[in-house]
Amino acid sequence: MKEFDVAIIGGGPGGYVAAIRGSQLGAKICLVERDKLGGTCLNRGCIPTKALYASAKAYSSARKANKFGIHTGDISFDINIAVSRKNSVVKRLVNGVESLLKAHGVEKITGEGFIESPGRIRVKKSDGEEGINARNIIIAAGSEPAIIPAFNIDRKDILTSTEILDLETVPKSLLIIGGGVIGCEFANIFAEYGSKVILIELLPTILSTEERHISQLITRRFRGKGIEIYTETSVDRIEKAEGGIKTVLSDGREFLAEKVLVSIGRSFNTLGLGLEGLGIETENGCIPVDEKMETNINGIYAVGDVVGGMLFAHVASSEGIVAVSNALGKDKRMDYSAIPSFIFTDPEVAGVGMKEAEAKEKGIDIKVGRFPYAANGKALCMDEEEGYVKVIADTATDRVIGCSIIGANATDLIGEATLAMKAGLKTRDIVETVHAHPTLSEITMEALEDVHGMAIHKAGRRI
Ligand SMILES: Cc1cc2nc3c(=O)[nH]c(=O)nc-3n(C[C@H](O)[C@H](O)[C@H](O)COP(=O)(O)OP(=O)(O)OC[C@H]3O[C@@H](n4cnc5c(N)ncnc54)[C@H](O)[C@@H]3O)c2cc1C
Repeated sequence: MKEFDVAIIGGGPGGYVAAIRGSQLGAKICLVERDKLGGTCLNRGCIPTKALYASAKAYSSARKANKFGIHTGDISFDINIAVSRKNSVVKRLVNGVESLLKAHGVEKITGEGFIESPGRIRVKKSDGEEGINARNIIIAAGSEPAIIPAFNIDRKDILTSTEILDLETVPKSLLIIGGGVIGCEFANIFAEYGSKVILIELLPTILSTEERHISQLITRRFRGKGIEIYTETSVDRIEKAEGGIKTVLSDGREFLAEKVLVSIGRSFNTLGLGLEGLGIETENGCIPVDEKMETNINGIYAVGDVVGGMLFAHVASSEGIVAVSNALGKDKRMDYSAIPSFIFTDPEVAGVGMKEAEAKEKGIDIKVGRFPYAANGKALCMDEEEGYVKVIADTATDRVIGCSIIGANATDLIGEATLAMKAGLKTRDIVETVHAHPTLSEITMEALEDVHGMAIHKAGRRI
């Protein structure tokens, strides 16, 4: 029987990153994956959605090309080309992961992993079973779209976030259930492609975890694109009907759409791993771990979506690095204090650390700085004047404790505030760092200066 230092179940961004880091640390590593390498992120999540988002952005730019002096004539959109481009980006990255694992000497076993006991895994393969021994095990089994039986998901007309990635035609109308991050990203993409989008949300606002102004701004932008938004309303049932799919709300209202996307959250892949036999009890569907990413069983770790919390690829990867380092005798703890989050809508949204309301609730004395895109030269050159950067600093220490951004390239800009938070930088440390001109990063710099009422390009400070 093969022997390993660490065996990892799941080849998504939690698992494959842990595998590579383990090998870099000199260990003998095995990675068990039942499907494609890259997991949800590369095959059904981050990457395919961002490739389709790039098509939406390109189409939108082409429509306003006249503004930049480019006469395009009639333009049209072909979803098949967008989907095949998406597939080639995915394939390239999945192949890249495969090559990296090979280059690092990670042994990949294709099959379904089951933990028989601490240190022992059985893999069900297409040609039989294989047993492996590993001193440590990392569970990185990820998550799947949550399914409600009453919604009759048939994966053809009533879809999850997986099937919608491969549509062959742009639906004339698309009803989306769930106004969270994934629902809003698809609402934006398909509205740009030309679908009539209807968004149904149970809570009082879409993107309810964001700052109130951000949720309001996205709501306004969405309505401007013709997206109908219904909040504080739940779906009673979805059924096939004459001329499309009928969605009936609990208040009796009915909508007919060509396709329906159910985007109501994720369920965690904890079944079939042998957890009960090991004595690992799930909590709210997730595997509980300590800050070293270890479960209640010595030598068995869990990382990524399967442990719940912030369901992001970069969180899964960080947790993977912490887990494998600890499995190999290091002493690392997962630090969630500066985790960037983002939403690829138009405009983009990004945040890190505390929101203003949260800081106030905690009784922290804060100073807030804001700076609008509309006062930044590069943003005007790009015709991207909507949005702002908002920074929250602790008055006592002058340290950055939160940042929210809405506007073009927000998802890239958030890196600076994330580094500032992680390094415990003061606002003055950053504003005294020269920022290149003309760049969008100057918006962050001026928001930081605004914390002290010193933003150069802002008349009349408003906090
Ligand atoms: C539509 C969508 C868009 C997203 N966009 C973003 C984004 O822009 N940025 C971001 O950071 N995150 C995004 N995410 C979230 C991100 O994809 C996940 O947080 C991330 O993939 C979690 O990584 P993971 O390694 O924990 O699990 P997964 O990526 O889910 O990988 C788990 C792997 O384990 C395998 N597996 C499960 N059980 C077994 C078993 N018993 N044996 C063998 N293999 C097994 C599965 O086949 C899978 O390949 C998005 C998600 C979705 C659905």
